[in-house]
Amino acid sequence: MTRRALVFFLAIAATVLAQGNPDWHKEFPAFKIAGNLYYVGTADLAVYLINTPQGNILINSDFEQDVPLIKQSIQQLGFKYSDTKIILISHAHGDHDAATGLIKKETGAKLMVMDADVPEEESTAPGRPGAHVDRALHDHDTVELGGSKLVAHLTPGHTKGCTTWTIEVRDGGRTLNAVIIGSPNVNPGYILVGNQKYPGIAEDYVKTFAVLKSLPCDLFLGAHGGYFGLKEKYEKMKAGGPNPFVDPDGYKAYVAERHDTFRKEWARQKQNPGSGAP
Ligand SMILES: [Zn+2]
Repeated sequence: MTRRALVFFLAIAATVLAQGNPDWHKEFPAFKIAGNLYYVGTADLAVYLINTPQGNILINSDFEQDVPLIKQSIQQLGFKYSDTKIILISHAHGDHDAATGLIKKETGAKLMVMDADVPEEESTAPGRPGAHVDRALHDHDTVELGGSKLVAHLTPGHTKGCTTWTIEVRDGGRTLNAVIIGSPNVNPGYILVGNQKYPGIAEDYVKTFAVLKSLPCDLFLGAHGGYFGLKEKYEKMKAGGPNPFVDPDGYKAYVAERHDTFRKEWARQKQNPGSGAP
């Protein structure tokens, strides 16, 4: 493929990806998950807001076309979009970070990204935000604002700098450990054996599952609503009773199932090197 054809192909691929799952761009009610942690994303592309006396932190930006919905969600909660001080991401893929540059420009927030995802974040290739990263993060770095502290856990594989965020949320006299999974998934076309662009990708996934299994979790969350049953849990929450997002068993079961799926795919590719994912 010529370079021009490749650029064209990538642009088409980015467009197809941007259309993806219909839930990606569908409105979803903004709501409080627990304490000062809120959901302001779409029906599948999770965006989290951490409210502090010194302004707000946003985790993920979604696509540029989703920003009006995010703004509306922030307003519905009684917060101000212009109070966004820090933008973080789950990983450098368009469904989570394509609008980071736009939000930075509109709010003046600082963008903080795991070191290994910084080149992708700053890239101006089709579908990439080309956003200047104000602070490169390293594994276990903390991000603090107004008394809230997030910890960045490097959980690589899905991307080189894929990040799982944790935060202790104070809610009604108790402290809850929230875990926002970056992504445990092997996407279609991912090469686990003999990957020239990402040597050690499979070993990185192995490390990621060890990290995910080690994290204490009360509030089970992630980059996509589909990881943790956003819709079902939101409906349960509306019905009252105990907070359905407090789901340590659901977290353990999800991580175990994803680990198993990864191991099977890795074994399949070892049998048939160069096959990539189905
Ligand atoms: Zn992704």
